[in-house]
Amino acid sequence: MKFYNKYFDVIVIGGGHAGIEAVLASSRMGCKTLLLTQKINTLGNLSCNPAIGGIGKSHLVKEIDALGGIMAIAADISGIQFRTLNTTKGCAVQATRVQVDRQIYKNFIQKILFNQKKLTILEEEVNELIIKNNEILGVKTLKNNIFYSKSTILTVGTFLRGKIYIGLKSYNGGRIHDSSSINLANQLKKLPLKIRRLKTGTPPRLDIRTINFKNLIVQKGDFIKPIFSFIGNKIKNLKQMPCYITRTNKRTHDIIKKNLHKSPIFSGMILGKGPRYCPSIEDKIFRFKNKNSHQIFIEPEGLNCIEMYPNGISTSLPIEIQKKFIHSIKGFENAKIIQPGYAVEYDFIDPTNLQPTLESKFINNLFFAGQINGTTGYEEAAAQGLIAGLNAGLNVFNKTLWYPKRNESYIGVLIDDLCTKGTKEPYRMFTSRSEYRLILRENNADLRLTKIAKKFKLINQYRWNIYNKKIQDIKYEKNKIKNIKILFNSKYSLELKKKFNIHLKNHISGYNLLKRPEININNITNLKIFFCKNTNIEVLKEIITEIKYEGYIKKQNIEINKYLKNENTLLPINFNYYNIKGLSNEVIIKLNYYQPISIGQASRISGITPVAISILLIYFNKNI
Ligand code: FAD
Repeated sequence: MKFYNKYFDVIVIGGGHAGIEAVLASSRMGCKTLLLTQKINTLGNLSCNPAIGGIGKSHLVKEIDALGGIMAIAADISGIQFRTLNTTKGCAVQATRVQVDRQIYKNFIQKILFNQKKLTILEEEVNELIIKNNEILGVKTLKNNIFYSKSTILTVGTFLRGKIYIGLKSYNGGRIHDSSSINLANQLKKLPLKIRRLKTGTPPRLDIRTINFKNLIVQKGDFIKPIFSFIGNKIKNLKQMPCYITRTNKRTHDIIKKNLHKSPIFSGMILGKGPRYCPSIEDKIFRFKNKNSHQIFIEPEGLNCIEMYPNGISTSLPIEIQKKFIHSIKGFENAKIIQPGYAVEYDFIDPTNLQPTLESKFINNLFFAGQINGTTGYEEAAAQGLIAGLNAGLNVFNKTLWYPKRNESYIGVLIDDLCTKGTKEPYRMFTSRSEYRLILRENNADLRLTKIAKKFKLINQYRWNIYNKKIQDIKYEKNKIKNIKILFNSKYSLELKKKFNIHLKNHISGYNLLKRPEININNITNLKIFFCKNTNIEVLKEIITEIKYEGYIKKQNIEINKYLKNENTLLPINFNYYNIKGLSNEVIIKLNYYQPISIGQASRISGITPVAISILLIYFNKNI
């Protein structure tokens, strides 16, 4: 203990994706931050598949980036396959996905953490939270060391009473090769927090040298690589790797069906609910009885790594059965399992126990972020970590805490969904969760959030300059496009015919040309010849989207104004709703439990009727 000070501004417990973004945010803000984690060498680990982004999730990554987080840059640096998904669909639902080299990703994250000013990292397991009068003062570790802080963030992922299952065997563990956090979990159960169980799982990892890739479908990355970070010009050009596709078949299904009773899920050993959108193969075969085949993406784990990740066959069946069904799959006939698939069941806290700032409603200065709040996924965890880190920092400086609203970001949607509705299964992000998705595009995350990041000192001058240049370029190019006229008999009109099959009968303005359905963000490189040869593609994409969807965006903005009115009509905290006459008992119980911070949040709680909202409005207009 003599080497380290005991007093910090912020303590973060757990160095997963939530913990990493949390410590970076709070130390960047100038807070003296301590990260306590079980194993320093697991910092930056990707416990499941080595891929960042995907539909809905990539919006979170871009928003984390706009707020100064590290995930997008790490993915750009370590990317071995880059793709834009949903290219045939509208701009709101397009998504970036990067397959990364697991080791390069981890090394980069560790380098950033080890060089971060104001950050101390110690390999210590937290055993106990020191809480007095509903306020957290510090933590005690397994080695009996005590550390104090103004704010504390808990980001212990799947480790609280984590139990690993392979077949009918089970043992304590937060992840394979990592021990679970038992004492801390037992203490949390005694606090006024609702604790429940969830489960997740992972597939067996296969030895690349034993897979027969002949006759498997090859899936390459995009020729023009999408870049995750808004400062991504520093992207490293690593060798790009293909993924492969194979499928389960009748034999695979027969083997699994015959052995379902050996699965801990079907034998009743695991009670926690698993992720609905990422079910185990035994779950898929049980639930979708009519399907006789399921797709498997075979993803590389790195450039020099012998492990391949078969995405789509997460399992917790016994190892002998895993071997059997793996060998029944085309390409895997002789595949060697390096690490078996397994399931992990763990405690999580009901996120309705949290304020949208991610601070506990019951214990002051204690914040929660990541999988402990009922989510699944690196991106969901990192997004919460950043917000918790920011608020832990604001709390240190006695400033008003901040939370993103649903119209500002997917992070706002994520946090509002969790805190308002809670979750019964591991929550993952989808674009369909956002009612304002036309406004919340991947590509404009910087335009939506960088100003906020600047205000809270989350970003450096370099990023701020890039943002300002983009704003200026958009303004300048948009103006230029408005003033351009393409004559129907000019050489450009012929180009339009050739490149877009557009036959001009009259002159057309640049502005109206961009509204034409033949032109979209996927063929914009063809468009440069008409207006802006040197314009950045991202700038052009933004302009096209703004012009093309102008009408819809206007309509969505009207909706947002209505929404904001309700969000900005605040309700008192710790209010006893029994004081309000006319509310039903059910409504009173719910309002007393949730303690919504605004009329908007109250209106999204299930069972809170429009009549109840009117009563609240009348009551508080009179009394606040
Ligand atoms: P974690 O990444 O779990 O990190 C928690 C950290 O806290 C660890 O570093 C741990 O050592 C540390 N810690 C725990 N207890 C203590 C303590 N008492 N003191 C100090 N440090 C402590 N995501 C998907 O999107 N899809 C999937 O299919 C998927 N499958 C998964 C399968 C498995 C088996 C696992 C384990 C995870 C899976 N994930 C999946 C989830 C993804 O890995 C997590 O959502 C994400 O890593 C959560 O990040 P986190 O920061 O909340 O917690």
